Amino acid sequence: MSNENKTIHDFDFSLICDFFSNMERQGPGSPDVTLKALSFIDNLTETSLIADIGCGTGGQTMTLAKHVHGKITALDLFPDFIDILNRNAEHLGVQNRVKGIVASMINELPFEEESLDLIWSEGAIYNIGFERGLKEWRKYLKTGGYIAVSESSWFTDERPTEINDFWVDAYSEIDTIPNQIAKIHKAGYLPVATFVFPETCWTENYFAPKLTATKIFLNSHTGNKMAEELAASQSHEEVLYRKYKEFYGYTFFIAKKVERNSF
Ligand code: SAM
Repeated sequence: MSNENKTIHDFDFSLICDFFSNMERQGPGSPDVTLKALSFIDNLTETSLIADIGCGTGGQTMTLAKHVHGKITALDLFPDFIDILNRNAEHLGVQNRVKGIVASMINELPFEEESLDLIWSEGAIYNIGFERGLKEWRKYLKTGGYIAVSESSWFTDERPTEINDFWVDAYSEIDTIPNQIAKIHKAGYLPVATFVFPETCWTENYFAPKLTATKIFLNSHTGNKMAEELAASQSHEEVLYRKYKEFYGYTFFIAKKVERNSF
């Protein structure tokens, strides 16, 4: 495998964490897209309980915190990301209702069944897998509660081998949007809204800050071969996106938990 063809899974956690700690967000997205997804969700109040799963350093968590009054538990596997998130919550003055915790989204969610009004997860459900996450997280939602997740999608039924192979290696569960909506329905939700991220979520909100993060990262890891390979794999992702963006991207899916016997 050439260095640039390595995916994020080929690097150790501390290096990945160090790289992405220098970014406000760890995946494509933007405050506008977070707010657009939020606009499809009704009935949130000061007593609402919200989980932000795979929150990273909490870029989207802070956007949510500014626009909803409920209590947000943001969780991520990486303690450094959670430290940054909790510091940012304090700077924003929302530490009383936004709490970052270290936990895994896989088999370890610290929530009561039927307790949540909203599950949020931007660019992170792939870690458990789209279908498995939808299925296993459902029990934590109240009936009528919402799930809002962003996930990578194919835009066409067929695509060039280079980009197909890259994704099959990185995340073979990537699928077309109609198939993803069908999976949401099958998992016991009513699909409420679906929209594709604008390109700027990748270029301006993700790749541009990543360039700055790469410089800081390489400066603090001079001569470290793994660090150089991680940086190379990250810039290869950008090259692929710019070449093949008509074939894939990120999609936001918003859905409502319904009783199983209602469909
Ligand atoms: N939501 C953030 C955003 O959009 O900026 C972060 C998205 S990042 C692509 C994926 C996140 O999932 C990372 O912060 C990573 O640490 C987290 N993650 C990976 N495996 C996890 C797990 N098993 N449990 C919880 N979080 C996990």
